[in-house]
Amino acid sequence: MPDHATMSVAERLAAVRAQLAHAAQHAGRAAEAVTLVAVSKTHPAAAVEAALAAGQRDFGENRVQEAQAKFPALKTRFPDLRLHLIGPLQTNKARDAVRLFDVIHTLDRPRLAEALARAMEQEGRRPALLIEVNVGGEPQKAGIEPAVADGFIADCRARWHLAPAGLMCIPPAEADPAPYFAELAAMARRNRVAELSMGMSADFAVAIAHGATLVRVGTAIFGPRPRRA
Ligand SMILES: *Cc1c(COP(=O)(O)O)cnc(C)c1O
Repeated sequence: MPDHATMSVAERLAAVRAQLAHAAQHAGRAAEAVTLVAVSKTHPAAAVEAALAAGQRDFGENRVQEAQAKFPALKTRFPDLRLHLIGPLQTNKARDAVRLFDVIHTLDRPRLAEALARAMEQEGRRPALLIEVNVGGEPQKAGIEPAVADGFIADCRARWHLAPAGLMCIPPAEADPAPYFAELAAMARRNRVAELSMGMSADFAVAIAHGATLVRVGTAIFGPRPRRA
């Protein structure tokens, strides 16, 4: 096995897919039940193209503007490309996000639910929506607080006629993620939503053991991110 730093995107992608399949098998789940979202934020379109050439079709970006610069041309060339928004969304960007993304992982407040409902009406396009839960209750982090999440999901359905497809979380950085993944899975069962977006480069195998259906993996596929300007 070549050294990680000198591996190509295709080689790293193959290694991640193998780890994903192994984790799924270990959990008694089908590998096809887990979608690998390749997080390409800060990496150039050329890196995305290398992943596309290796058969990858789901990509994650955390900024609307960066995705607008990178993806429209690629989406035209690869009509089955699915673009996921995994970063915080401002209400004034809701319409742009609805136009460009296929899955929005970061619905986390009533004002945004309202803005997305209106944007979907205006655009005639309905990306899948996941509700981000601040599982660690961290003040600096986005996400709805766990104690009010059930009520928010009910409001999304009743007030804004949104049908959330699932839940997403980013556990506290230094903690064991397992209990947080378990909590998110229990919340999904209780609220009858199917999708669980959890797990990143360092912990996607643990997330798969706890039922993740979408794992968001950046560094393990594309290498370290260049520092933002
Ligand atoms: C950047 C990012 C990831 C990917 O993180 P890696 O550790 O590079 O795999 C996953 N999820 C979110 C929300 C991110 O912002």
